[in-house]
Amino acid sequence: MRLSRYFLPVLKENPSEAQIVSHRLMLRAGMIKQSSAGIYSWLPLGFKVLKKIEGIVHEEQMRAGHIPLLMPTMQPAELWKESGRYDDYGEEMLRINDRHGRDMLFGPTNEEMITDIFRAHVSSYKDLPLTLYHVQWKFRDEIRPRFGVMRGREFLMKDGYNFDLTKEDALHSYNRHLVSYLRTYERMGLQAIPMRADGGPIGGDYTHEFLVLAETGESEVFYDSAVTDLTFGDREIDYDSVEECQGVLEEFTTKYARTDETHDEALFNEIPEDRRRVARGIEVGQIFYFGTKYSEALGATVQPGDGKPEPVHMGSHGIGVSRLLGAIIEANHDDNGIIWPEGVTPFHCGIVNLKQGDEAADGACDDLYKALTAAGLDPLYDDRKERAGGKFATMDLIGLPWRITVGPRGLKNGVVELTSRRTGESEELAPEAAVAKIIEVYKDHPTPRGF
Ligand code: ATP
Ligand code: MG
Repeated sequence: MRLSRYFLPVLKENPSEAQIVSHRLMLRAGMIKQSSAGIYSWLPLGFKVLKKIEGIVHEEQMRAGHIPLLMPTMQPAELWKESGRYDDYGEEMLRINDRHGRDMLFGPTNEEMITDIFRAHVSSYKDLPLTLYHVQWKFRDEIRPRFGVMRGREFLMKDGYNFDLTKEDALHSYNRHLVSYLRTYERMGLQAIPMRADGGPIGGDYTHEFLVLAETGESEVFYDSAVTDLTFGDREIDYDSVEECQGVLEEFTTKYARTDETHDEALFNEIPEDRRRVARGIEVGQIFYFGTKYSEALGATVQPGDGKPEPVHMGSHGIGVSRLLGAIIEANHDDNGIIWPEGVTPFHCGIVNLKQGDEAADGACDDLYKALTAAGLDPLYDDRKERAGGKFATMDLIGLPWRITVGPRGLKNGVVELTSRRTGESEELAPEAAVAKIIEVYKDHPTPRGF
């Protein structure tokens, strides 16, 4: 993309309404525009990152054997009356009447609707196990929407639902989700720590929240610092293997890590003192096993062999897709702007032309652009007639991990400059070598193509 043809409405001034850095930077980098409290338009740069994050979520869900579908945002109230949650859910649920006076609602989550789909189409135990998921907009009428996309009213969530014959099978589904979530967050350059949590309105005895440590996080967390040494890395895992998934769950959840809802001071004090940590975190996902709560209420049963129909065992599993943008920025920025991890960056690299209109510089930039594009990468070429300082400031603000700077002086010596946004380090290279290096870097970060 050529910046002169793109739509990147960056702000010069710090917007006064933003209380935390990710919100401020998303507004300044022209990623989002508030339309009303907690509801945002996703401008091109924000949309691009949102879709990359969504793409990684899809890839990792499908890798784990989960099946995508799409349910509507608007739901009939009847289903929620059947489960008993219509009255329980409270004021966070946006209730709407259609022209015929029917009670509708904008879905805050989809346990009822997916169970309705299941009961309509599945009755044989041979169709199990089954995990269906979607990535869809949710609406929760949060009393205090704040921090930009972190606590919105309309937000994008991946929510998945497993259906299993037995509790044992459903716990394998639970473990499989935990493993796939670890992989998902790491691909985005994030460490998200699974922490014992509380069931809340969804209910259930087994639940973990995934937290990204950040001072601005809304949750208070207590953990053994040894959990921060754990990484999933590039290990291969067989998602069908009960032992392997169980092993990963144990590895990542045995050490003490809890949110304030389940915190146990006595257990916490058993951790060696120098490893006890009290901090804040951003919840970027949660997994639940809740047994037959919804399958019983809605009559989602299967017949095991020749026995009588039994309600299926279920769990639900959510990832805060739009909240993740905020969480990633909270964890990756400096005073000059965002620093995107390679896995989710909107453009793979920036090209800055120091002297637009100079024949050699323009030609070299065009060649770089073509070479990167031909390699399947997506560069952003700042071809505007602007001062170098302004161009650098924009690149730093929008946080592309790599920048190639091209100027007539370097070209005379046959070099361009390749700069890492994260370390600030630069090296002079022949243009072909800079392209080769960027291609190499992204081999380890397969990202969905994006928009
Ligand atoms: P919270 O405790 O932050 O209100 P929750 O526990 O009610 O969230 P879940 O039902 O577990 O949320 O939803 C799954 C994920 O969706 C959460 O882990 C979070 O990342 C994201 N999410 C929930 N509420 C919001 C919101 N208002 N804005 C943006 N993302 C949200
Ligand atoms: Mg939650």
